[in-house]
Amino acid sequence: MVETLNPFEIVQKQIKTACDKLGLENSYFEVLKEPEKVLTVSIPVKMDDGSVKTFIGYRSQHSTVLGPAKGGVRFHPDVTMDEVKALSAWMTFKCAVIGLPYGGGKGGIKVNPKELSKGELERLSRGYFAAISPIIGPEKDIPAPDVYTNAQVMAWFMDEFSKLRGYYCPGVVTGKPIVIGGSLGRNEATARGAMFTIREAAKRVGIDLKNATVAIQGFGNAGSIAARLLNELGCKIVAVNDSRGGAYNPEGLDPKAVLEYKNKNGTVKGFPGSKDISSDELLTLDVDILVPAALENVITSKNADSIKAKIIGEAANGPTTPEADEILYKKGVLVIPDILCNAGGVTVSYFEWVQNLMNFYWTEEEVNQRLEHLMVKAFNEVYSLHKEYGVNMREAAYMVAIKRIAEALKVRGRV
Ligand code: NAD
Repeated sequence: MVETLNPFEIVQKQIKTACDKLGLENSYFEVLKEPEKVLTVSIPVKMDDGSVKTFIGYRSQHSTVLGPAKGGVRFHPDVTMDEVKALSAWMTFKCAVIGLPYGGGKGGIKVNPKELSKGELERLSRGYFAAISPIIGPEKDIPAPDVYTNAQVMAWFMDEFSKLRGYYCPGVVTGKPIVIGGSLGRNEATARGAMFTIREAAKRVGIDLKNATVAIQGFGNAGSIAARLLNELGCKIVAVNDSRGGAYNPEGLDPKAVLEYKNKNGTVKGFPGSKDISSDELLTLDVDILVPAALENVITSKNADSIKAKIIGEAANGPTTPEADEILYKKGVLVIPDILCNAGGVTVSYFEWVQNLMNFYWTEEEVNQRLEHLMVKAFNEVYSLHKEYGVNMREAAYMVAIKRIAEALKVRGRV
């Protein structure tokens, strides 16, 4: 079996499958198979040594049929146009599955930000935002952080755009620092959303979360917070890891203590009382719940058959290949697909944008309650379709999303 790892080919395949299963005419696939707009920009940056270096950036707007495009910007040496296009399409479906009034967008710059000084990074960020500004705006396309971009980069983006417009414009990006319109609860939102979907899945599968065992691949923002929140529900976190190694203890790890240890030592490896564990071993541990929260394509046709977890909560984007999905479905593993499981981040980004447009700010409790409501509703919709059509949860999630988009395309007279 030849497994494609090109993200854009994978997303096109997912769109085709969902359109076919819904019995939609081919015109829907034709509209959705390519992004509406992809902008390539060159960004000349004055470097600290006085030289000028030009970087290449992209912004892809896959669909705006349900609302303005929404999606992050990544700064990474491996950024390609195909990757940005695929990520923008995933954002379309992620927003639609939750029922947010957004389409999908994504951006990126091919750069290793670790090689830049803070000043160079600021000039690059401002240059990129100025270059894409004709297609960006609170009513057109709202960027956010992604790999190697953060609240500081969003603050520069927002400032640059506000200068161009001539007035304070917080609604142009999300993931901002709180003082300039960021939302309370945004930092924990992805993990909290994942926790809600895992909790709902456990009810359906008949797993009691008190003492259910959990393995988490990746102990960064999403993984470490998911560990804490699942532990608060009673789960026993038996294994976690990061790029430098793992920590395994069948008696359970204390997520707060592991985070403190990681902050001090730069890795979870060596956490007192734990054994090191490889990523491959972690993924195939005999646990109730597995949470991939690191990289793409880690569950493939090579290891899917060895997976013992009953629930997989995809906090990461794209951790499972379509071939592995099929194997897991046949084995009866309930996979909560990325576009549903990790949609808490974009959901609270949506809340941030709403608060910016209203100039009225919510408490963290209000944010978390609204998040829970939307995540549980979306989980139930996807689960019902999964049962009704006898398809896996990922196909069901795409079907929920594409059904909504197809209806909008139809009433807007686009197909
Ligand atoms: P992060 O950089 O904070 O954490 C990533 C973690 O993965 C780090 O601990 C890193 O050491 C670890 N890692 C890297 N290579 C690894 C390997 N080979 N084996 C095991 N661990 C490895 O990133 P994050 O924000 O937590 O994002 C993680 C995933 O979740 C990504 O796929 C991201 O796209 C997805 N996601 C994050 C958010 C969010 O709001 N943070 C939202 C949606 C999706």
